[in-house]
Amino acid sequence: MTQTVQPGARDDQTVRSGSDSAGEPLTYGNFIGGEWQASVTGRSFASHNPADTRDVIAHFQSSGPADVAAAVRAAGDAYPLWRATPAPKRGEVLYRFAALLAERKEGLARAMTREMGKVLPEARGDVQEGIDIAYLMAGEGRRLFGDTTSSELPNKWAMSVREPIGVAGIITPWNFPIAIPCWKMMPALVAGNTVVFKPASDTPHCAALLVELLHEAGFPAGTVNLVTGSGEEVGSAILESPDVPVISFTGSGENGRQIAEIAARRLKRLSLELGGKNGIVVMEDADLGLTAEGIIWSAFGTTGQRCTACSRVIVHEKVADALLERLESAAGALRLGPGLDPETDVGPLINAGALDKVERYVEIGRDEAHLVVGGRRPDGWPELDHGHFFPPTIFDRVEPMGRLGQEEIFGPMLSIIRVPGYEEAVTALNQTRYGLSSSIYTRDTNLAFRAMRDFETGIVYVNAGTIGAETHLPFGGTKGTGNGHREAGHAALDTFTEWKAIYVDYSGGLQRAQIDNRD
Ligand code: NAP
Repeated sequence: MTQTVQPGARDDQTVRSGSDSAGEPLTYGNFIGGEWQASVTGRSFASHNPADTRDVIAHFQSSGPADVAAAVRAAGDAYPLWRATPAPKRGEVLYRFAALLAERKEGLARAMTREMGKVLPEARGDVQEGIDIAYLMAGEGRRLFGDTTSSELPNKWAMSVREPIGVAGIITPWNFPIAIPCWKMMPALVAGNTVVFKPASDTPHCAALLVELLHEAGFPAGTVNLVTGSGEEVGSAILESPDVPVISFTGSGENGRQIAEIAARRLKRLSLELGGKNGIVVMEDADLGLTAEGIIWSAFGTTGQRCTACSRVIVHEKVADALLERLESAAGALRLGPGLDPETDVGPLINAGALDKVERYVEIGRDEAHLVVGGRRPDGWPELDHGHFFPPTIFDRVEPMGRLGQEEIFGPMLSIIRVPGYEEAVTALNQTRYGLSSSIYTRDTNLAFRAMRDFETGIVYVNAGTIGAETHLPFGGTKGTGNGHREAGHAALDTFTEWKAIYVDYSGGLQRAQIDNRD
């Protein structure tokens, strides 16, 4: 059952269990050392439904550095025992969590749609990613492979093993409120680290529900700790803590750079997953029906708020008009609305700031390019008045080096860039500071293979859109999208483990490497 604390409650005040059956929004505590606790700040904040901001979902702790310190202490206290727990046993807890997540998938997906806005089928997909990574990493409990190799000296054994690092700081965005925390926490935990988790302030309810399930699955007290509150207060305190040696952050490039500076000063391990400006290249031989479907899904799925969302189409000029005709009609037919309505194709943006940002870029687009469809907030649709809705918007004849062609907008906006051939397409695609996802639509196998080689992104698709990564492959980007780490797949373990090389000499004598076995 959900444990909650009264708004502003302090440790000495009532900490109660409750449900929202009375319809009143609950107040959630931080989850520290296996208990829901009020913040020492005595402050709280509300989470709202972006499709109707009158709908208050729940209240959460506006925590501060003292709460972070308590969570880090709890995680530090839990670390020795969790680290000493055999990895297959740790994996078994992940299996139980994966099964619970699968059992509660529908309820979590609905809660996610209410808090974050994405349409229900996509929210189910988000939870499914959490399930997938939990099963994948549960299996790692019986792998966590290192190398065994022969020594250069006789009667000597050599091997390498992965070791946990300690307390991991997990700082996540709102756009995949179950999947991304799971992508980070599952490898951290199976490897034997403990966790202090700070979710985005737009999606604390999803985080609290997730942590409840982790607790129910049997992660020992202190292994997973949740602290809600702002990036400035809670995020910074995690970063600055000398007792958090590893940080995994997903969010904007601007924040990522600041975080990198702080982490570098303290010599922390840091994994950054930042923004994107993902492009789809369309060659003149592409199947335009399939291409248009892939573009619409990649550009306007999750209201364009995926880090892998397609924001640029780089199209061969010979087929540009024909493609644009299809895109205009498909985008214009997408239905805006609350994500829980089965008729809805495109849900709201996350918050008022995101809506303002999209509107600012529409104004920029009017100066730089040609508006094809969308571009104005819906009016005369009273049921959308209280949400952050904006329709799918397409600009044609965008300059690759203009602002629309270069800057991450993170909304339902698509730029069309026309090029005369493959070489120009590659140049346009790669001419950004980001490098997350890309795609090519072509029937020419030679071109497809050239694209796999030429596209400077961490993920490349052929004849599919830019979204839809699977959890058993490495996920992440080149250039300004990150700092070289990868999530998901086996690669995720590299963030949360140290390599230890071990040599066992059973010769019974002194053997000097590089000396005794040389002339
Ligand atoms: P954001 O504003 O950077 O926030 C991300 C997280 O960092 C939130 O929990 C935020 O807390 C926290 N934070 C903010 N400032 C901080 C600071 N100074 N120190 C420590 N923590 C801080 O990003 P967002 O708007 O949530 O997410 C959208 C961005 O994430 C986009 O740029 C998108 O491309 C990127 N993204 C990348 C990937 C990827 O894998 N490459 C995946 C998803 C999203 P508050 O919420 O309290 O501000």
